[in-house]
Amino acid sequence: MTPLLEARNVTKLFGGGGIRKKPGTVALHDFSFRVDAEPPTITAIVGESGSGKTTLARLLLGLAAPTSGEVLYRGKDLRQLTTEDRHRFLRDVQVIFQDPYEVYNPFYKVDHVLETPVKKFHLAPTREKARELIEETLNAVGLRPDETLGRHPHQLSGGQRQRIMVARALLLQPRLIIADEPVSMVDASLRATILESLRQLHLKFSISILYITHDLTTAYQIGQNILVMYRGEVAEVGDVDLVVKQPRHPYTQLLIQSIPQADPTHPWQGHELPTNGSAPAAGAAHCTFVDRCPYAMDICRRQTPPLFRTDEHRAVACFLYKESPRLAGTDLEQVLATAAPAETIPA
Ligand code: SF4
Repeated sequence: MTPLLEARNVTKLFGGGGIRKKPGTVALHDFSFRVDAEPPTITAIVGESGSGKTTLARLLLGLAAPTSGEVLYRGKDLRQLTTEDRHRFLRDVQVIFQDPYEVYNPFYKVDHVLETPVKKFHLAPTREKARELIEETLNAVGLRPDETLGRHPHQLSGGQRQRIMVARALLLQPRLIIADEPVSMVDASLRATILESLRQLHLKFSISILYITHDLTTAYQIGQNILVMYRGEVAEVGDVDLVVKQPRHPYTQLLIQSIPQADPTHPWQGHELPTNGSAPAAGAAHCTFVDRCPYAMDICRRQTPPLFRTDEHRAVACFLYKESPRLAGTDLEQVLATAAPAETIPA
């Protein structure tokens, strides 16, 4: 089956060139990933700042073009879509950004952000039907229309504003929502509610979710699968339970150790590892984690580790697992679990 959205061997470089032919900064390197239309999945993409996760979101949304490789929507290059395909893409793939406030015009009531897609995509034949549709959609994300419509953005809480963005995405009945740090600017008490809204959209409306975050805890709460990114490459990928509970890549292990625990006898170690001074020369093949890795070997400075399939539902880009079979770059979906998450998100 043709994937809904696919990144195929995508590399994105920023800067570089000029008369001194400086090398650019690699934001994403030879990255392949796909989201199928069926079955719907929730995949969390996790990484710290500079890992390439936001660049990936922008490439998948067509907001940036790859330096090499392709981003395909239903098998067609995003840059070459016909007007009709582009229209379909803009309905099928929705985005929720980190800061909902930036999307609102403070001079308009919040109704405006919901009415605009209804008009643009002709979702309702009359004003009354449009109002009904908007109210139904607000209810579907747990908002009361009488408490939200008719207000200006500043009259609502951050959590309400973000849930209106979830409702806006839902209005178009997308196949995929790309949520880029959607809860990083709301209170901790509201995070579970917004994540639960997203999960309910997945369960009730069969929408796939790509949840992009720096926060492993919320990734674990919502994801079925997880991709851990480091400096533009996948470090570890697979079933979220497996990766979070038994991390194999040294970088994932570091991320897990860095989650603060409410236990005074278990001191938080933070997540900075000193560099070991072994960074290879720029441009040479190597593991991107080699200068921070406590297990670095000679081979790590000479070759880029491919993904090794260490378990049925997991692959790890690390030479510590070189006895496991290699995974071809385009075969990531082989290790992704497809079973729907059963539990609800704890408040
Ligand atoms: Fe560490 Fe080598 Fe594995 Fe990279 S490939 S994470 S340097 S052991």
